[in-house]
Amino acid sequence: MIPVAAPQLGAEEQAAVAAVLAGGNLVQGPEVAAFEAEFCAEVVPGTRGIAVNSGTSALHVALLAAGIGTGDEVVVPSFTFAATANAVRLCGAVPVFADIDPVSFCLDPRAAAEAVTARTRAVVPVHLFGHPADLDAFEALAAEHDLRIVEDAAQAHGAHWRGRAVGAVGDASAFSFYPTKNMTSGEGGMVTTASPVIERTCRLLRNQGMEQRYRNEIVGLNYRMTDLHAAIGRVQLRRLAGFTAARRRTAERLGAAITARATPGVVVPTAAAGAEPVWHQYTVRLSDAGAEVRDAVLEGLGRRGVGAGVYYPVPVHRLPAHADLPASALRSDSLPHTDLAASQVLALPVHPAVTEADVEVIADALDAAVREVGGSA
Ligand SMILES: *Cc1c(COP(=O)(O)O)cnc(C)c1O
Repeated sequence: MIPVAAPQLGAEEQAAVAAVLAGGNLVQGPEVAAFEAEFCAEVVPGTRGIAVNSGTSALHVALLAAGIGTGDEVVVPSFTFAATANAVRLCGAVPVFADIDPVSFCLDPRAAAEAVTARTRAVVPVHLFGHPADLDAFEALAAEHDLRIVEDAAQAHGAHWRGRAVGAVGDASAFSFYPTKNMTSGEGGMVTTASPVIERTCRLLRNQGMEQRYRNEIVGLNYRMTDLHAAIGRVQLRRLAGFTAARRRTAERLGAAITARATPGVVVPTAAAGAEPVWHQYTVRLSDAGAEVRDAVLEGLGRRGVGAGVYYPVPVHRLPAHADLPASALRSDSLPHTDLAASQVLALPVHPAVTEADVEVIADALDAAVREVGGSA
């Protein structure tokens, strides 16, 4: 079976963890400080990093530090992992869902603009599947309406938009180091920001509102990262460039192999002009198919030894968790590109361990699975 995700962990990560255990300094110590500095220098130059215990925590404190609170509206995509909208709600704010660009699958800046009201305080572009959102357009939108930008870069370590690193453009940005992401720390996350004020607020929020012990300045959380996790993250950071190069090589090969087979209805992902994606997922679309056909193709891939996945089968605004949102959370009656994507997408293995031979197996399996269900129509 070729798995859809495969965290690359080895002797170096093990040694790094063992060294922390031997040293005994377990939480928010020197490994965390070094990880913050190295991550920003390597991946998001011009920012400072605040390490936390998950990508969701990073989103939460980034939004809080950007001033998001009760009653505010925050424009988000619905075609994303639920954490994007959950973090907004945990601030007491209302996520307002806007549609995506059907090619990049990222939040469409024009749809986001249509969702802005007098209550809107921020927008959260998600760099979905490792493809950067159109950050120039979001900057223009934010300037026009005085909005904060909080980038959800959980899937996009090292992606660039027109030469700028994701995570360096917004007022604050959130990265995740969950095992399936482009690099991992086990669990973990990082806020990046160029603002000293947002940086300090994030540092307070992650540690009970304390800079000095028992001198709590604000109401905060315990979102601290451990040095065990940071030590893993530092090793993975050194390997990230290699991981990304491998993902890019595989994405290119998948595109060529799938195109060569002319599998009916399959649309391969492409990079928008100015985008340098890092291929967190390699998401094909089965055009003209509905969820039933797509799910049958997924099953056919599994039978042929290819572990594909569907990210994401249910748009966030349709999840039971968000059924209690006010009507204002959905400005338009429907999000047609979001609903269509949720029913047609299929992610093929693109992780760093996928070999050139695997690519042929994947493309053959996809071709056979699609033809088996009678084309994609
Ligand atoms: C993974 C992910 C998150 C949350 O990160 P965790 O580390 O799992 O909490 C948020 N947003 C997106 C788009 C993600 O893929």
